[in-house]
Amino acid sequence: MEKDEKKHKKTLPGAFKALGIQENVLQAIGKLGYKLPTPIQRKAIPIIHSGRDVIAMARTGSGKTAAFLIPLIEKLESHSNTVGVRGIVISPTRDLALQTFKFTKQLAKYTTLTIAAIVGGENMNEQFDALSKNPDILIATPGRLLHHLVETKMQLKRVEMIVFDEADQLFDLGFAAQLDAIIARLPSGNQQKAQTVLCSATLSSSVQEFLSKDGVVSRDNVEMVRL
Ligand code: ADP
Ligand code: MG
Repeated sequence: MEKDEKKHKKTLPGAFKALGIQENVLQAIGKLGYKLPTPIQRKAIPIIHSGRDVIAMARTGSGKTAAFLIPLIEKLESHSNTVGVRGIVISPTRDLALQTFKFTKQLAKYTTLTIAAIVGGENMNEQFDALSKNPDILIATPGRLLHHLVETKMQLKRVEMIVFDEADQLFDLGFAAQLDAIIARLPSGNQQKAQTVLCSATLSSSVQEFLSKDGVVSRDNVEMVRL
């Protein structure tokens, strides 16, 4: 019997279920029509599940978005009664942020999580409204997020995971100062450090410089996944 079970598992090496993904997220993945995880998803999801910081490097189109959104949603849904922003995804452009926002809502469809997009070029008052409803996850561009943080004095001390998506672009576009100001608001000192996930197609020198900064990526609890 045990042998049969093992054999059965072996025939499904790539299945999302084998990655230990929760049922309500599996359902959403099924609805998207994904049959198998991509290589970066197979490698990165279990490491993000473990709580370590992760640097995920893989070419454009390899499925990095779901690789960080799936474990982000699972982590926050597991104790969803906490109030306040607990997850942040930083995107370099408005278009990417809005696309990621839509994707996050699809993947979180069967959860109780609330998600808001904070991007430039959209109505400020609507965004203030969205923020006043205490969303669990923010999908944001750096400039607009920082603007709202300054204006509303919103706290980021409950953030459990922060994702820097398309990190090479974030730095090419000159967002380093805004990112520093956002990071300065994350839990620090004896508060639990937010788990950091950084995604990039290339490990540019500006990304490396960012990684070497104190307090962003933990020195002894980080794994690089490179494909
Ligand atoms: P990256 O961020 O690495 O450039 P994306 O996350 O944008 O890649 O994914 C690229 C495309 O692949 C998207 O259209 C996405 O819906 C699709 N995709 C992601 N994961 C899977 C999967 N497991 N099965 C099928 N399609 C997938
Ligand atoms: Mg991407």
